[in-house]
Amino acid sequence: LKADPSIASGVYPDRLALRKGQASEHKYNHGHALILSGGPGKTGAARLAARGALRVGAGLVTVACPSAALQDCAAQLTAIMLEPVDAVVDLAAVLEDERLNALCIGPGLGTGQPTRELVAETLTTQRATVLDADALTAFTEDPAQLFDQLHEGCVLTPHGGEFSRLFSDIAEKLKQPATRGPAYSKVDATRAAAMRTGCVVLFKGPDTVIATPDGRCSINSAYNERAVPWLATAGAGDVLSGFITGLMARGLDAMAAAEGAAWLHVECARQFGPGLIAEDLPEQLPMVFRTLD
Ligand code: AMP
Ligand code: MG
Repeated sequence: LKADPSIASGVYPDRLALRKGQASEHKYNHGHALILSGGPGKTGAARLAARGALRVGAGLVTVACPSAALQDCAAQLTAIMLEPVDAVVDLAAVLEDERLNALCIGPGLGTGQPTRELVAETLTTQRATVLDADALTAFTEDPAQLFDQLHEGCVLTPHGGEFSRLFSDIAEKLKQPATRGPAYSKVDATRAAAMRTGCVVLFKGPDTVIATPDGRCSINSAYNERAVPWLATAGAGDVLSGFITGLMARGLDAMAAAEGAAWLHVECARQFGPGLIAEDLPEQLPMVFRTLD
């Protein structure tokens, strides 16, 4: 892999983009992220993402959740605004606010038809969108139905299981032992998925690989002496989705946001250590940002 100069490995290439800006800045210049939440008992994932988006620097963050979950969300989120969304028409009404410039859909949503409808509604707006978790798994039966709706402002963030459900043929190649020539790698697989979907694909794991449809690729490696195995914990991926959404709200493009978020995510885990739980991750961001100065 090191022989391929098109692959950036282990470094965040544009630290300047993450720095805090001018003294005169205003929260309305830092974007407004919208995170969709599941119903009662399923709000944790969206709350983690929302906290991640806020800490990473989105000016404003709104969580859209079913009315029945508003109390749960309100009790646990202070700086985050709430909108009741019980059906796709409610989401359409929320999205009329064009200041909502980055969306996150999937964590905790469920894998049925309502999720497919919410995904379709978010994608028609053509806004920067992170699709994670149930927004991916809901299309297991017919991945092409999802691919047909995606646009270049989307970032897909599958873990291994989600990747295999959406890209079963590509995942199959990863499992094959190489009989002739070089083995098919996670880089090849991520590039193939990005090309097929026309979106940035961030394929998670200890070695998170991020690729664009035009073949640019980077690896955020957390192996060997730089390993952070304690990052493999419930909800860590939801925080990552929030980081990407927050950076896109701030104006980073899909690839820069995905790379920046993956780098920050591992650095946050590194600040903490064993015993880390997902809610600790956003809390480490101020420390990590200080190292960028
Ligand atoms: P999810 O499965 O959606 O919660 O995402 C898990 C998160 O943990 C992703 O950001 C992965 O990249 C990360 N992760 C999983 N396993 C490891 C590991 N062994 N070392 C470091 N990070 C990991
Ligand atoms: Mg996940």
